[in-house]
Amino acid sequence: GVAVGRVSVEAWIREYARLIAEAAPRLTELDSAVGDADHGANLSRGMAAVVAALDSSSFDDDGALLKKVGMTLVSTVGGASGPLYGTFFLRVSSALGDGFPAAFRAGVDGVAARGKSAVGEKTMLDTLVPAADALEAGKDWPAVVDAASAGRNSTVPLVARKGRASYLGERSAGHLDPGAESSFLLVRAAASALGA
Ligand code: ADP
Ligand code: MG
Ligand code: MG
Repeated sequence: GVAVGRVSVEAWIREYARLIAEAAPRLTELDSAVGDADHGANLSRGMAAVVAALDSSSFDDDGALLKKVGMTLVSTVGGASGPLYGTFFLRVSSALGDGFPAAFRAGVDGVAARGKSAVGEKTMLDTLVPAADALEAGKDWPAVVDAASAGRNSTVPLVARKGRASYLGERSAGHLDPGAESSFLLVRAAASALGA
């Protein structure tokens, strides 16, 4: 599988925080169409807290670092995305010994379990599941990013079945899901930090 070292996992998280800070206005704009206009604020607050935790602590290994990331997101992000991304990182943390593709899959399965959700419901899973499939199929990083991008784009015509966007019913169709976009940034960050 994909080799992951201590520095690159930390670089993944820091790059994700950077991309989230940069994209926050756009994520909030996407959430204003189908939700409550806070997805950018939620995640940028959470990832800023994560970066502060990384700056002020040292960790024995990548698992401990990712556990801190997950716990920080759960405790600092109000809203659906905090517990969901928090669960993702906690599950990745626990499964890291099985290699990155398997750990990423465990994280995605954790989101599905926590959210009681599946592909096709217009959520972050529409990005994350195809990315996990591509990683486990042994695809290279550009192909993994392409799979995530196609999955993200697939949310546009979908009717939301989970989360606040589902309150809109049919009117949720025609908009990109904000969580599908933030999950695309998570995969892009992995490709830049972990892709050799
Ligand atoms: P909130 O909806 O509580 O304001 P955010 O705006 O931060 O939280 O996050 C919304 C995103 O969370 C959605 O765009 C969607 O991708 C994701 N989401 C919401 N509910 C679920 C769920 N049950 N399963 C998976 N993802 C979900
Ligand atoms: Mg919201
Ligand atoms: Mg909210």
